[in-house]
Amino acid sequence: MGLANFSNNVIFCFLVFLSCFLRGNYCYGEEKSPDCIIIMISDGCGYETLKAADLFDGKKQVYEEWEHQWAVSTYPYGGSYSSDLAWTDSSYLDSGYTDSAAAATALSTGSKTSLGTIGRDSLHQSDYTHLMEKAKAQGFATGVVTSVEWSHATPAGFTAHNNSRQNYREIAREILEGDTDVVMGCGHPEFNNEGKARSPLGLLGHYRYVGGKKTWDRLNSAYDGYYNNWSLIETLSDFNTLAEGSGPYPEKVLAIPQVYETLQYRRRGEASGGLNQSVPSLATMARGALNVLSSRDSRFVLMIEGGAVDWAAHDNKGDRLIEEERAFNDAVEEVVSWIEERSGWDNSLLIVTADHETGHVGGIGPEGEPGVIFNSKNHTNQLVPLFARGVGAEGFNDYVVGRDKVRGAYIDNTAVGQYLSSFLSGE
Ligand SMILES: [Zn+2]
Repeated sequence: MGLANFSNNVIFCFLVFLSCFLRGNYCYGEEKSPDCIIIMISDGCGYETLKAADLFDGKKQVYEEWEHQWAVSTYPYGGSYSSDLAWTDSSYLDSGYTDSAAAATALSTGSKTSLGTIGRDSLHQSDYTHLMEKAKAQGFATGVVTSVEWSHATPAGFTAHNNSRQNYREIAREILEGDTDVVMGCGHPEFNNEGKARSPLGLLGHYRYVGGKKTWDRLNSAYDGYYNNWSLIETLSDFNTLAEGSGPYPEKVLAIPQVYETLQYRRRGEASGGLNQSVPSLATMARGALNVLSSRDSRFVLMIEGGAVDWAAHDNKGDRLIEEERAFNDAVEEVVSWIEERSGWDNSLLIVTADHETGHVGGIGPEGEPGVIFNSKNHTNQLVPLFARGVGAEGFNDYVVGRDKVRGAYIDNTAVGQYLSSFLSGE
């Protein structure tokens, strides 16, 4: 080793020491915080939904083998969960349930709210602070990815504040005027649910998921800074380029696949097959988002949603439910691979959970009668599973609020926002 190399090494070690010291992390025995926080939400997936997917796959999912697992209560503001009632009167579960807006708000902000509300209190008097906002204040990059519209309840519940999840135009505009670095999801006005080009009609609301026609025109024309320098990504090949990971990447990425409401679920036809070919998979989107965010900052928070599991369950379509849950599970595997290749488990915390159960799924039919058995077309107040791996994964133990007869120790969905916020306090 030459003298120059030696002194470079000394300088490097000193800088590493200094950055640990300034960040107040683990150098003096304090617990380390995750640099990469990734929350994956299968919208509407309960324990039985997951079991059905496992039976169809003939295997357990990768996250079901993780050491750290809890059940999660999901009820909205003013609600409750009773293990006794849940297992003695199954109709109990069919009332008092949450929705994706209130649930995402709880997961993100650590506070309950009323159904339909996005990032605000139940009386609609004040805004809550999102995990993503706290992360931004600490210099993290942030992003949301979904297989449904990017202004839909779950991504909105991590990035926006609105009295109603139905106000898609307002929600979309708030997201575009905000600090989020990567936003990926459907809602493309110029394509239908089969991914075929169409002439959008304002009267039919085709522009609503992207903030209205004016906003769409701005996004497509000038990049005049009005919307924070977003780069609009649309084509499958552009999504593949982001996922391939060679960079360089645009500063802020708004990535809208060329399809209207969902990547796949809303396409015509029954069962599986006939997939839309011109759109990326949720897994490809997830990898692309991870590449962009990690190029922005070594520390980031990303939410990834399998959004149409819930839609398939509402419609009691078993084949499509399995198809959507598989797409979500593929995305989890992609994220796990990315962590193992790139950030490492000693820098990352990955959470896989659901916002609520949908369809009151009761397993799959007996032999000779394949198909998921549904007992409802709506949400239920069941506990949902949460799996965690990586830095701080065991920490949810401090948030256990009860013990369910069947599911065991459970936390409340607000614990996710509260616990993750503890990594972003700036202390
Ligand atoms: Zn739903």
